Amino acid sequence: MEQCGTNESGRTIVIVGAGAAGMAAAIAAAEAGGPGVRVVLCEATDRVGRTVLATGNGRCNFSNARLAWDATAGAPCGCDLDSRYRNGEFVGRVLAAAEAAFPPRDALPFAEVGCAVTRFFADHGLLWREEGEGRLYPLANKATSVLDVLRAAMEAAQVEMLTELAVESIVSDPSSGLFRLRASDERELCAHRVIIACGGALQPRLAGELGLPWKLQEPVLGPLAVVAADKRLTKQLDNIRLRCAATLMREGRVVRCERGEVLFRPYGLSGIAVFDLSRQAQVGDEVVLDLLVAAALPEEASLRSRAERSERIHGVVPTYGDILRGMALPPVARVLCDRAQVDERQPWEPAGLDRLDGVVRGLRFTVEGISDARQCQVRRGGVAVEALDPATLEVRKAPGLFVVGEAVDVDGACGGFNLHWAWSSGLLAGRAAASDAGGQEVT
Ligand SMILES: Cc1cc2nc3c(=O)[nH]c(=O)nc-3n(C[C@H](O)[C@H](O)[C@H](O)COP(=O)(O)OP(=O)(O)OC[C@H]3O[C@@H](n4cnc5c(N)ncnc54)[C@H](O)[C@@H]3O)c2cc1C
Repeated sequence: MEQCGTNESGRTIVIVGAGAAGMAAAIAAAEAGGPGVRVVLCEATDRVGRTVLATGNGRCNFSNARLAWDATAGAPCGCDLDSRYRNGEFVGRVLAAAEAAFPPRDALPFAEVGCAVTRFFADHGLLWREEGEGRLYPLANKATSVLDVLRAAMEAAQVEMLTELAVESIVSDPSSGLFRLRASDERELCAHRVIIACGGALQPRLAGELGLPWKLQEPVLGPLAVVAADKRLTKQLDNIRLRCAATLMREGRVVRCERGEVLFRPYGLSGIAVFDLSRQAQVGDEVVLDLLVAAALPEEASLRSRAERSERIHGVVPTYGDILRGMALPPVARVLCDRAQVDERQPWEPAGLDRLDGVVRGLRFTVEGISDARQCQVRRGGVAVEALDPATLEVRKAPGLFVVGEAVDVDGACGGFNLHWAWSSGLLAGRAAASDAGGQEVT
């Protein structure tokens, strides 16, 4: 490891953490800085980009088409950032700054290239396709293809990648204008600019050392445990997936509604719709499932019309079980009848059918909390957004220091929103760190 202050190549930018945000920052810094800027990417594990490989079930849902940028409105074309992100207003300012820093180029062959992130990937050769709800995946359908593109870009831009280097301490030295970084194995690095891209693993101690305002971290975007009485039902339905509407209710008010997949597990509820609700769920909230919302003909699916139709066609009064057959799997039908207090073998009668109809359109579970933090996709909290300049992600009170990605108190919904934030914030900070403003020569 070089001694502090002996770098001959000009300014040094050190990026701490080689996840999505760190790699984007490294490429942007090295491409903008050119040969006069040395870019060093430090990674605690033995491999850069390992976290990217785990995303999207190994397929990497790297962005979302709904974030395509409308330059006239100064906002995404297809979604409201407040509903997709924590600190959505701050995210909007960062995305707008990224658009200004990485404007469209005339010669791009991709007519549909929609924002700074997709332009960045298109420029580096990635092809992708869109799946439901605007989710973007690499055409090769493997996260490795995203990482291949990033690694090639880092090598072409001569980013130095140092693995198995866990930064333990970062100290700013105002007299020299340098940052001194110390690794867990006592190695040391010096830098004019530091970009913190440690993800949710950023330690409060490291942030405290730098005086960064800190929001307590908690896991979100994960499965929800339900109270013991409801676990009895979810156990019976273990491993069953339903496409339905899931509504988070608090004291009778709707907090959020998501349409999508719900997966029953012995501890409670999982699946993408539940992950999204988990961003706002609190202990004691209810998750209410409407099982009919995805039916092609919701009116036809109404229990009363099914019962009457069945009787017309078959000439016998159907049982509750007959009515549910073909619309719900047998274990689901049993749970629904149990909740509605009807016997599935008995012929229907109006009061029982009304209760069953209510349960089918509103199967309720009481939330006990996040079930398993290890299954959560992001950690909420980290460095408070108020501490950062949204035009650059530079720490307002510590010039030369930047914080990006999940280390910032921003988290998004499922669907590519978290990686989009990581790339956007990384690109913006990388370019800003490499800009000449305030730069000094290392002597
Ligand atoms: C299973 C799973 C699936 C996901 N799927 C998706 C998806 O499909 N789409 C989506 O948008 N989001 C997804 N996410 C969320 C997404 O992965 C994160 O939001 C994103 O990776 C955050 O990027 P980051 O670079 O800020 O942090 P990270 O990706 O966590 O990278 C941080 C890096 O810093 C390193 N590091 C930490 N501390 C130090 C240190 N002190 N010194 C040196 N190195 C350090 C870590 O080892 C790591 O490599 C998923 C998350 C998980 C867990």
